[in-house]
Amino acid sequence: MAAEKRDKTEAVKTEAVKPRLEAELRELHLPTVRSSYEELARQAEAETLSYERYLLNLCDRECQDRRQRKIERLLRESSLPLEKTFETFDLKRLPTKVARQVQSLRAGDFVDRKENLLAFGKPGSGKTHLLCALAQDLVHQGRRVWFTTCSLLVQTLLAAKRDLKLSRVLKRLAGYEVMLIDDLGYVQQDRAEMEVLFTLLADRYERGSVWLTSNLPFSKWEAIFKDPMTTAAAIDRLVHHSVIVELNMPSYRLEHAKNAKEEEASAAPTGS
Ligand code: ADP
Ligand code: MG
Repeated sequence: MAAEKRDKTEAVKTEAVKPRLEAELRELHLPTVRSSYEELARQAEAETLSYERYLLNLCDRECQDRRQRKIERLLRESSLPLEKTFETFDLKRLPTKVARQVQSLRAGDFVDRKENLLAFGKPGSGKTHLLCALAQDLVHQGRRVWFTTCSLLVQTLLAAKRDLKLSRVLKRLAGYEVMLIDDLGYVQQDRAEMEVLFTLLADRYERGSVWLTSNLPFSKWEAIFKDPMTTAAAIDRLVHHSVIVELNMPSYRLEHAKNAKEEEASAAPTGS
């Protein structure tokens, strides 16, 4: 009887505590603790957990949710094409040397050393997909990554320069640990375009990792950077601390189209 009464007064006390507790959890920005504390308290009672254990379970949940929210935010701000992952990438297609390189790149420590990653190969060889998959892996490690095509980047920088905001934009971009510039060389840059691109590369030199994909080997980069001096300076900065991946493979699209055709041919009835 007495125990029942005590339980009842405890329950009344808990109810009185709730509004204050929830207000304070809101003030402390602990949304998961706020939404989970009651459920976990019931569980702790049922399993007679210690106070410390209960608090730990609650903190675990908050940390887990926070990590997940952070990854979601990083993925959103990365502008990465999210469907290009290792799940959808056939690693067996890669030459052994490249497969080994990719294996070690996935650890991500080359980004801490501010090393660059340059991927070369014919159109369709999988450069964009491979670097996007790697980049997404690194976002899942909590790293800040930004994906852009070269032509979009150049247009953004030109607009910023025109509005006298170039240094502000460069500063914002410096906040990304990885900048993935897709398809260097696809755009026919005129001088002004080449200059902003060069300014960006010079700005990032030894300060942040630059990842590039290009169909053009270095020997053809003068078409991008116009004069031999600037071309040499750009290549020099990019290559100084870098990993170079050569995807000397046939086009994935072409190969798939060919396979599909062959299958169709072998499936078709022969003779008349
Ligand atoms: P690149 O950037 O070298 O021109 P992409 O990465 O755009 O080539 O690849 C062309 C297409 O082929 C894309 O749809 C891509 O998803 C696909 N692809 C390329 N390589 C692979 C691979 N190893 N596994 C699965 N899909 C691939
Ligand atoms: Mg590409």
